[in-house]
Amino acid sequence: MILIRYYQVISSKNPNFKNTLRSKLVMGIEICAVGGFSEVGKNCLAVNVDGDVVIIDMGLQMDKYIEYTDEENVFDFSVKKLTSIGAIPDIKNISDWQNKVVAIIPSHAHLDHMGAIPFLASSFPGIVLCTPFTKAVLEAIIHDDKRHIRNQIKSLLPNSSYKLSDKITVEFVYMTHSTPQTVTVVLHTKYGAVVYTNDFKLDSKPTLGQKANIKRLTELGKQGVLCVVLDCLYCKEAKKCPSENVAKEMLREVLLDVDASGKAIIVTTFSSHLARLKSIIECGKKLKRKVIFLGRSLSKYVYAGEQVGIIQFSHGVKIIKFKDKMAKVLKQVDQNRDQYLIVCTGHQGEPKSVLSKIISKDFPFTVRQGDHIIFSCTTIPAEVNIRNREVMEEKLRALGARIFKDIHVSGHGAREDHRELLRILQPRHLIPGHGHQQIVAPIAELVAEMKQELDADLHFMKNGQRIRIG
Ligand SMILES: [Zn+2]
Repeated sequence: MILIRYYQVISSKNPNFKNTLRSKLVMGIEICAVGGFSEVGKNCLAVNVDGDVVIIDMGLQMDKYIEYTDEENVFDFSVKKLTSIGAIPDIKNISDWQNKVVAIIPSHAHLDHMGAIPFLASSFPGIVLCTPFTKAVLEAIIHDDKRHIRNQIKSLLPNSSYKLSDKITVEFVYMTHSTPQTVTVVLHTKYGAVVYTNDFKLDSKPTLGQKANIKRLTELGKQGVLCVVLDCLYCKEAKKCPSENVAKEMLREVLLDVDASGKAIIVTTFSSHLARLKSIIECGKKLKRKVIFLGRSLSKYVYAGEQVGIIQFSHGVKIIKFKDKMAKVLKQVDQNRDQYLIVCTGHQGEPKSVLSKIISKDFPFTVRQGDHIIFSCTTIPAEVNIRNREVMEEKLRALGARIFKDIHVSGHGAREDHRELLRILQPRHLIPGHGHQQIVAPIAELVAEMKQELDADLHFMKNGQRIRIG
């Protein structure tokens, strides 16, 4: 029989809070859903092991955050303000654990998993521990945004371990996703292993980096996993997420097999998706076009990747960060449009992005009849993104551009990936993550289907809720 549990919020706002929690030292394992369990975004989980606390992920709610920032400007908002608009996780949920935090561990370099660190990390005493690529991106963000955190930032390579305290050793297991050096974070405790795999996909043919370390995950499953926190964003989709190699082929088709002589080509994609950018550059070379990257976030992720030796793009690509320089370059592109391939930000139709500015003629470059605009992404299914993209596409159509959209495969596993991972890890407890209950609910159907091969208690959580598992 499957056990499905829904939890009451136990937080500092609850009148029973003082008596039930604050006065007690946690013995065993208690997990608090801090953020990302009542929305898609601002992922944050706290795990308390006999009084030592690890925070895994500390992300931004991107749509809320972006309303207050743009490519060039960073506004200095207080933590209180950012919390009140829902842009960062509400750390009041763990105010009683605040001084016990031994580490903050972003699992990868996506902003919905690590973008709140510059605002919140200093509230806690522990180190920030992440892979070298995530560290390089985080440091670039802190530097560019002129922020400071008091925590030491340490790096740990994928497929290695680090002793955080007498009670917790952390292990990073290499996982495939849509940004390099994503890891499944494993907390080894005397009660068993807590495995955080949020985000993940199982890509057997990645175009950059290694395959997921299934061998190690299988070993962990055999040793016995106490709890898995699982990226369930696409658990309703009955499929296996296609490899990044498929996206590469889709790009090849629209870039190399569709005639664009005399026309401009603009590709927009995720700045953090270095594998995708690599495929775009390879196509640009085949087209004999000069590849130009425009935008602050693109330069941040590319330089971070180069710093840690994952990629070497800047030999063959011009990377331009600031608006005045972009204007100069786009003037040249406008006059020799079929000699360049432009890559820029703006795939979600963000009104302040480079692509929006190009369309609005903020630069000396005009999108003309028959120019190719390639969206190597999907529209994130949030109202603001859907609307922004509609507006952008209407404007592009009015200019006569050819739009190629959804040239993309996801970085998130679907139901058959979930099945595979659960079969391997065999957890005793399962906590679905990366979305509110409507998004993650279909995982219950899968767990029911797997009743012959999986014996896990399923715990649906909301932000602010806690469970005790060890
Ligand atoms: Zn991610």
